[in-house]
Amino acid sequence: MPRPVLDLLLLPDWLVPVEPAGVLLKNHGLGVADGKIVLIAPRADALKHQAKHVMELPGRLLTPGLVNAHGHAAMSLFRGIADDLPLTTWLEKHIWPAEAKWVTEQFVQDGTELAIAEQLKGGITCFSDMYFYPQAACGQVHESGIRAQITLPILDFPIPGARDAAEALRNGMRLFDDLRHHPRLKVAFGPHAPYTVSDDKLENIRVLADQLDAGIHMHVHETAHEVRQSLEQRGERPLARLNRLGLLGPRFQAVHMTQINDDDLELLVTSNSSIIHCPESNMKLASGFCPVEKLWQAGINVAIGTDGAASNNDLDLLGETRTAALLAKAVSGSACALDAHRALRMATLNGARALGLDDQIGSLEVGKQADLVVFNLNNLAQQPVYDPLSQLIYTAGSACTEHLWVGGKQLLESGALLRMDEQRIIDTARAWGEKIRTGQTGTSA
Ligand SMILES: [Zn+2]
Repeated sequence: MPRPVLDLLLLPDWLVPVEPAGVLLKNHGLGVADGKIVLIAPRADALKHQAKHVMELPGRLLTPGLVNAHGHAAMSLFRGIADDLPLTTWLEKHIWPAEAKWVTEQFVQDGTELAIAEQLKGGITCFSDMYFYPQAACGQVHESGIRAQITLPILDFPIPGARDAAEALRNGMRLFDDLRHHPRLKVAFGPHAPYTVSDDKLENIRVLADQLDAGIHMHVHETAHEVRQSLEQRGERPLARLNRLGLLGPRFQAVHMTQINDDDLELLVTSNSSIIHCPESNMKLASGFCPVEKLWQAGINVAIGTDGAASNNDLDLLGETRTAALLAKAVSGSACALDAHRALRMATLNGARALGLDDQIGSLEVGKQADLVVFNLNNLAQQPVYDPLSQLIYTAGSACTEHLWVGGKQLLESGALLRMDEQRIIDTARAWGEKIRTGQTGTSA
């Protein structure tokens, strides 16, 4: 049988497929055709295939594209607007008033574009988003070539773009219809948090999510205060309430989960829900620590997210993964916790699984989408390379990202964005910053 002609053949020094777990391949080639991975073979065998484009990648590591499983992309325009404050003060005194004043459809377009550009430059090929005007975020995902889960924000109070939750859901239903066959966009529900969404709305969301087979993405047990308040006001923990309302299940994505008792753990295991760990946001807002190692040992799918740039303050998932690997050791009291292979799995395949995309992305396997990233480990700070994966997790940052593809289409080449105008994006963000600063203080100083 004639071999298919490859569109692209990558020849890196090292390749970590993520599945099977714990494997590092040396001197292998990866072939792409029609946007999918069609070949992973030792270099000599790979070179027997005809390819339209061959890339020699000495000193480079090829991995699946990173999956940033939680964020608020457009909030990149609020990066650094309010720091060093506890969650409640930060939200109620700073973020919510700023959002009420500044967030428009244009703000979301520009902020999401900034976030996508930063993420692509950091090796992220897929992200999850929870923000207002989700249709504007969808437009930017479509244009930029990245992959995303866009969630519909639902809260008890009016939000930018919707007078109430019913209107937000009505608008959202149109997105489900319009994007049903989009190759890179997936729509899900994004009820903000247990303390901002009432029972009737959550029940409504559960019914719709079941009908549409859609994900439910929600901040849950972000702080001890949230759990204490729910116990005082309702006599039950937020996770128990969500379980009573039927929301937990394989499509449920619980973001943060810094507070987990034995009953919570049991609910998470039996419902097969995913957890999205956001260590830097949790540390910066002093929210608490998600016990990642304990969850992992219990068999729970743990993914990772940067959260929004207003509480992090960057979208560097590689840096976030290093933080997670270090924090897991500190929290569990075991230096063996979350080793480099498992850390990368959390940032790729586990993220894909949380978003219901693990049949398409998250690992380098024949038949999956060619969502790929090449990290350059030839830099001074990575020398010498005994173990390239150790270097990736414990020394590299987003600046090591060199090339990136989504569905076989190259979006980053030698660190430069191919489809987006980086200078224009910087200029637009600066203009927003100036406008917001002036509007807040009445002076441009
Ligand atoms: Zn968040």
